[in-house]
Amino acid sequence: MRTVTDFFGTMVFNDQVMKERLPKEVYDSLQNTIQNGKHLDLSLANVVASAMKDWAIEKGATHYTHWFQPMTGITAEKHDSFISPKSNSTVIMEFSGKELVKGESDASSFPSGGLRATFEARGYTAWDPTSYAFIKDGALCIPTAFCSYGGEALDKKTPLLRSMESLNKSALKILHLFGHDEVTSVKPTVGPEQEYFLVDKDTYNKRPDLVYTGRTLFGSMPPKGQELDDHYFGTIKPQIKSFMKDLDYELWALGVFAKTEHNEAAPSQHELAPVFTTTNLATDHNQLTMELMQKVAKKHGLVCLLHEKPFDGVNGSGKHNNWSLSTNTGMNLFEPGETPSENAQFLLFLSAVIRAVDEYQDVLRISVASAGNDHRLGANEAPPAIISIFLGEELSEILSAIEKDEKIGSKQKEQMRVGVHILPKFPKDTSDRNRTSPFAFTGNKFEFRMLGSSASIADTNTALNTAVTQVLNEFYDILSDAKDFNLALHNLIRDTIKNHKRIFFNGNGYDDAWVKEAESRGLSNLKSTPEALKHLLDEKNIKLYTENKVFSEKELRSRYEILLENYSKIINIEALTMIDMAKKLIIPAISKYTRELAETCKLKREMRISSSYEQEVSFKLSLLLSEAYSTTLDLEKKRNEVNQIKGAYEKASACESIVLATMNKLRKTCDEAEKLTAREYWPMPDYGELLFGIR
Ligand code: ADP
Ligand code: MG
Repeated sequence: MRTVTDFFGTMVFNDQVMKERLPKEVYDSLQNTIQNGKHLDLSLANVVASAMKDWAIEKGATHYTHWFQPMTGITAEKHDSFISPKSNSTVIMEFSGKELVKGESDASSFPSGGLRATFEARGYTAWDPTSYAFIKDGALCIPTAFCSYGGEALDKKTPLLRSMESLNKSALKILHLFGHDEVTSVKPTVGPEQEYFLVDKDTYNKRPDLVYTGRTLFGSMPPKGQELDDHYFGTIKPQIKSFMKDLDYELWALGVFAKTEHNEAAPSQHELAPVFTTTNLATDHNQLTMELMQKVAKKHGLVCLLHEKPFDGVNGSGKHNNWSLSTNTGMNLFEPGETPSENAQFLLFLSAVIRAVDEYQDVLRISVASAGNDHRLGANEAPPAIISIFLGEELSEILSAIEKDEKIGSKQKEQMRVGVHILPKFPKDTSDRNRTSPFAFTGNKFEFRMLGSSASIADTNTALNTAVTQVLNEFYDILSDAKDFNLALHNLIRDTIKNHKRIFFNGNGYDDAWVKEAESRGLSNLKSTPEALKHLLDEKNIKLYTENKVFSEKELRSRYEILLENYSKIINIEALTMIDMAKKLIIPAISKYTRELAETCKLKREMRISSSYEQEVSFKLSLLLSEAYSTTLDLEKKRNEVNQIKGAYEKASACESIVLATMNKLRKTCDEAEKLTAREYWPMPDYGELLFGIR
């Protein structure tokens, strides 16, 4: 049997394969392109394409596809076979450099927010050599960026790559001030912890709400939820275990560093954490992970739910974005150092993140805004919609001493100069225990916990990289002009702490008191997606993205439209699904059961025996039935009205305040009726079956 090490990455055209299969000068040029973004000559692209094709064919591939990440948040592909007719009856397998480098996408129906005029609805895909090509389902997949002919980004990958490039430049400038001339590249690293639910496939298929929207739109809680905490890290059931094993193998073959898998807090909820890697690769890998989770689940008679809140009343699913910066020399910039100078550098980068998170709270919040995640943010298991930073006790104490020019652990005034004096060591593993903080420093990285489980990690990392870039540039301007570097550095760090300490919060983020406290500190609390998105086009945010060359203003405006439209579309689909289910399943079921009760009642009365149960329940159900019916009609009417609204923001906002509010009302009524209706009459599997169906 082959071991995992033999097997790992066998479906990836990675560095090792390139080294083996490419002529040395082609390999070196390609490396130059990958490491330094240098342009690759078409003649070299031909050589690379040919080597890729031969390798892929040996692995059984017959097709190739440009693989890209449009604004839908999932990946897109269009398969072409390698075959090319040679004579009337024979073919050869071909793949040219041109086909590798650029693809025409006739996918005019991808959302573009008006960026592609209708006469030029096509965009093109361009090879991203920084991500390895791989084979999936018999097709060679080439990671690409997706752009319009005007050069505007139509995908999630292009802005991410741009943000990485800008961050690289600014972090390098700073490192060079610290004398690190040996460092030639800085890259953000990410390890996204992915949560998900698994439910039985047959049960799932009987729930139109899950099928159409990914979440249950109706359903009352079973007698047992997650209160016993017996699922978290509990024994993994055999069916799930075999799913996880299969998934690991599929992911490993694709070079994804799937590492840890365990049960999560809610019944049927699980988590997969990979080993961290460079952000663009981590983004590709996370997309593949989500895709394969869904595919492998089906093979095991399961369905994988990636929605942020598939079930009301139990935990939702998120994706913790562990983020750090690392250099080509192997330095982690958020690893506290051993010497005063190392510590000073650490504190400077730490200060940059503190200031970036405080100044761009809204930008980070927007990066996680989605209709699905709205059900999770602010609910009691997840971080509230308020962003704050958790630093842990020891580090907070150090920062506070720097701020007040005090010696650590005493009140006596004594200058503790950053970059000159030794800072006390702090144990890093004590810092990660606040699970309620949305943005926690966890010893040598930050963990941003607001991201929803179904989202691409590209948006959040684009936002984070750009905000940090902006602050590093501002820091550089101050430090590079300074006559006394150490003094300027000390003052900069101290002033940053002073000016931005409102963002620090080490307490319980789920506590109601925190919401009030945060308000008094002036922190933003953008509760819904439309409310958050409104701020994407604030002047300061347009400036942030355009000055750091991550988005043009045109691109940003198009994204604003796309995100709002997407939100409205989701609410619309959910409303239609609810109306359909209410009319065709739930209302008829309640009516049928009421009739059964009423008939029994009549019979019993004739027989002069007690019919108190039938009377009472049929009475209650009749009331609920009328209410359910009238609310359904009301929902239908409101949905129609809201759909007429023209402006993207106005429509999304009305979807939230009017349509969603009516949906919640309808759900409440129907869930009440579910509790009173005999199980055999209820027209779909209940929460108990969904959450505890896998044994
Ligand atoms: P937990 O959060 O469960 O305590 P860890 O802190 O060990 O677990 O790691 C969580 C995630 O953080 C993993 O995906 C891991 O690869 C990632 N991670 C660890 N170090 C870094 C880093 N320097 N940059 C980005 N992600 C990292
Ligand atoms: Mg974690």
